[in-house]
Amino acid sequence: MFDVVIIGAGASGLVSAIVSARRGKKVLIVEKNNKVGKKLLATGNGKCNITNQRPTLDRFYSDNPKFIAQVFEDYNYQTIKQFFKTIGLELIEAKEGKVFPMSLQASSVVELLVCECEQLGVKILCETEVESIIKKSNKYELIHTQGKVKTEKLVIATGHCSAPQLGGVDMGLTFAKKLGHSIIDSFPTLVQLTSASKNLKRMAGVKVESKVSLELNNKTIEKQGDVLFTTYGISGLAILDISRFVMEVLLEKKNIMLTIDLMPKMSRGQLLALMKKSLIKKSSKPLKVWMQGFINKKLILPILEPLKLQNKTIGSITSNIKELEKIVDGIKAFKFTVNGSKGYKGAEVATGGVNTKEINPKTMESKLHKGVYFTGEVLDVDGDRGGFNLHFAWVCGLRAGEAL
Ligand SMILES: Cc1cc2nc3c(=O)[nH]c(=O)nc-3n(C[C@H](O)[C@H](O)[C@H](O)COP(=O)(O)OP(=O)(O)OC[C@H]3O[C@@H](n4cnc5c(N)ncnc54)[C@H](O)[C@@H]3O)c2cc1C
Repeated sequence: MFDVVIIGAGASGLVSAIVSARRGKKVLIVEKNNKVGKKLLATGNGKCNITNQRPTLDRFYSDNPKFIAQVFEDYNYQTIKQFFKTIGLELIEAKEGKVFPMSLQASSVVELLVCECEQLGVKILCETEVESIIKKSNKYELIHTQGKVKTEKLVIATGHCSAPQLGGVDMGLTFAKKLGHSIIDSFPTLVQLTSASKNLKRMAGVKVESKVSLELNNKTIEKQGDVLFTTYGISGLAILDISRFVMEVLLEKKNIMLTIDLMPKMSRGQLLALMKKSLIKKSSKPLKVWMQGFINKKLILPILEPLKLQNKTIGSITSNIKELEKIVDGIKAFKFTVNGSKGYKGAEVATGGVNTKEINPKTMESKLHKGVYFTGEVLDVDGDRGGFNLHFAWVCGLRAGEAL
């Protein structure tokens, strides 16, 4: 008989197992995948952006932001750093507050977590999927693919349906619903965006440091970083970062136009002056060739065609400087319409989840069922890219582990 059964050997499940086992509990983790921490192994491109030094509330999203503030009270970056020290994992700090394991290997995070579980006698049952949970008086019976197990304390650490190829499923939400919890709708986030632009094929493969902006509720959202044009649409770090806001708009609209500054390091005035200097009076040099001196060739026609300048020469531009200003605007405010995303398969995270108004933020225990705890992505909380999603998962794991 186990004191605690945890469904899911991912980030939050492993931490709650360790913390409760250290307090003397007999713990079983049931994991449907053939190995532990499959999603964790893929984090940060295999380096695991494990947390962030500045997990401020504006980096997280939920229908109930107060819950996040309460969860994080007294649990900050140092708390996480200290926890990982106790399992022998040193962390290093990088730019933008991002934090990685010193080894720069996600596998070291998983191996040290698993080793700690083993040392504490936590039993991990892989290739075992929990199919249903039945409440019997004050106990919960879990029916799984290898049999069944009864427990008084149950942690639902099942994650969400992002990255199904790494085992992402929304079974935790099904369990929560059956237990009477309400669910906040989900959509994929930190995800690549699709487009029906006729320029896709000719721009595909171009990667540029850009600033992407979007008008949302009379506010301009801006994200800077790599943008990669692809045959399906657009990707890159700036796109992943802005995708949550885009997806919010796409819940109601079919399309949304992004404005992309393809040269964010230069002001409009600087670029105009630079281009003006290189114009040659009366030259018959085609504009589309001349522009290769400034920008990737594959972007030139998509910039010039909407301005109807694709067949002009630089000689003609010299006599009509307004046209040069339009070209500069085409570079500094390139319009690109998106119509969807690559879905959960392309997403790092799913928004929405179990309604946090029904969860105690200090213990992660359900307010509806004593002895049932929810941790990590299964809850209606998601964060920006940069270590914030794992930060939330670790804090939940610590809180639940201590409460158990
Ligand atoms: C490609 C990729 C890269 C990412 N990179 C980062 C990053 O660098 N930094 C960051 O902060 N976040 C990153 N994330 C997000 C982060 O991985 C998740 O937010 C985090 O893992 C969520 O932790 P969790 O404990 O809620 O669930 P998970 O870690 O997803 O674990 C849930 C576990 O439950 C198991 N499970 C589900 N249902 C059942 C069932 N019925 N029976 C048995 N087992 C079950 C699953 O198989 C899984 O192993 C990334 C995500 C992806 C997909």
